[in-house]
Amino acid sequence: MFSKKLKTAPEGYTFDDFLLVPSRSSVEPKDVKTHTQVSRNFTINIPIISSAMDTVTEAEMAIALAQEGGLGVIHRNMSINEQIAEVKKVKRSGDLTIRDVITTKPDASLREVHEMMDEEEISGLPVVHNGKLIGIISRRDIKPIINSDPQKKVREIMTEDVVTISESTTPEEALDIAYENKVERLPVIKENHIVGIVTIRDILELKKFPNASRDKTGRFMVAAATGPFDLERAMALDDAGADIIAIDCAHAHKPNIVKFAKTIKENIEADLVVGNIATREAAEDLIAGDVDGIKVGIGPGSICTTRIIAGVGVPQLTAISDVADVAKEHNVPVIGDGGLRFSGDVAKAIAVGADTVMLGSLLAGTHESPGEVVIMNGRKFKQYRGMGSLGAMTGGAGAGTDRYFQEVKGPMKHAKLVPEGVEGVVPYKGMANEILFQLIGGLKASMGYCGANNIEEMQEKSHFVRITSSGMKESHPHDLLITNESPNYPTTRLM
Ligand code: 5GP
Repeated sequence: MFSKKLKTAPEGYTFDDFLLVPSRSSVEPKDVKTHTQVSRNFTINIPIISSAMDTVTEAEMAIALAQEGGLGVIHRNMSINEQIAEVKKVKRSGDLTIRDVITTKPDASLREVHEMMDEEEISGLPVVHNGKLIGIISRRDIKPIINSDPQKKVREIMTEDVVTISESTTPEEALDIAYENKVERLPVIKENHIVGIVTIRDILELKKFPNASRDKTGRFMVAAATGPFDLERAMALDDAGADIIAIDCAHAHKPNIVKFAKTIKENIEADLVVGNIATREAAEDLIAGDVDGIKVGIGPGSICTTRIIAGVGVPQLTAISDVADVAKEHNVPVIGDGGLRFSGDVAKAIAVGADTVMLGSLLAGTHESPGEVVIMNGRKFKQYRGMGSLGAMTGGAGAGTDRYFQEVKGPMKHAKLVPEGVEGVVPYKGMANEILFQLIGGLKASMGYCGANNIEEMQEKSHFVRITSSGMKESHPHDLLITNESPNYPTTRLM
């Protein structure tokens, strides 16, 4: 009876067990499109998401990802207020429109206005009377008079004919209007009231990131993690402007989690992504719970010890393909989370049905990850730790403990925890955009080999060949001494 368990056990595969087969192709890598669905209501331009881990994603990483067309998930190992502040930092930094506009009144003196401009480091102020915009005053207007007549009133020298735009004006239109009228800043007007200001400098900055992930109002997109039962956090993050809330736990195939996910979804406007899972049955249950996205991965992570500590998991390529089979029937996007080491792994994850992949270790060593660079034996590193490691479970807001369903009470915290992750360091890799460039370059090359013009075609058209360990050995550089590290073939075992 027991032997049946083993005899009927299916095989599980991961990235190194397969290669993609080159197909007849007229697709040039430079022409392929990498936009993809990250959740039911959101598309991003590259299929890369950063992990909700305290050594990977805070605002700086989320901004770097959004600028390049990906998405960052702000970790939850901090207080709700701290996490909200990170979400707001991302939203503010990607916002073309300055929304907390500092204004002045027509009766203010030039000295007052001059002081205010110095204090706030701005060079122009809209003039508002009874809530209505009646003029604009700039440093240039004040300069010739400020010394001789500092008590002069704003209304006497302000420009009354203000060129304004509406909320629906596109950045291109705004730039044309600004150049045509030779003005540097354009107040944004809604029902006669000023609701924001747009400057030429900000429009030009925006053009530096044509691929960026933006929400409906043009701000950067950002996601944020919450615990499976933390409605308060989910609602607060939603209010703060998070586009996607990701329920982050080690095992989401639990009826109480699926049930509570529904409650969270009913109380937020953001999309709700739930994970992690690794089987078809779990996908069916989450989809029945009406989630907007599914995150797959039990134990593939580079810092993860779940498969060793609990003996539980599903090799990641099998897990993604099983979940994607079910999710595709219901148009629910799938995130392949953890275990990716090379751009070829990104391509394989997508080819078996992932719409996006979530990266921890590949991004942890970049400039934008939280934490300092440490130097060991003359080389630069950054700390990277599992959210189920002792350090993460006992530090921060304790997110690691409920992620792994553990409760800590009283003293001797360490001895009462069973970690499912480890702490270590990864080589410092420079700026995140350079890593993303290499990853997307590799993915595009793969799509060229497979004859796929876009992510959907990559999922539909690509074929795999099952390989042996000798096949994998042959795949890596061999029989030579590598003297320089290639940026897309990073050496991870340096110690
Ligand atoms: P990586 O990209 O480093 O291979 O994997 C990152 C992923 O591992 C994260 O997105 C998360 O899903 C998962 N993870 C993070 N910390 C831990 C941990 O301590 N234990 C386990 N089991 N998984 C973790």
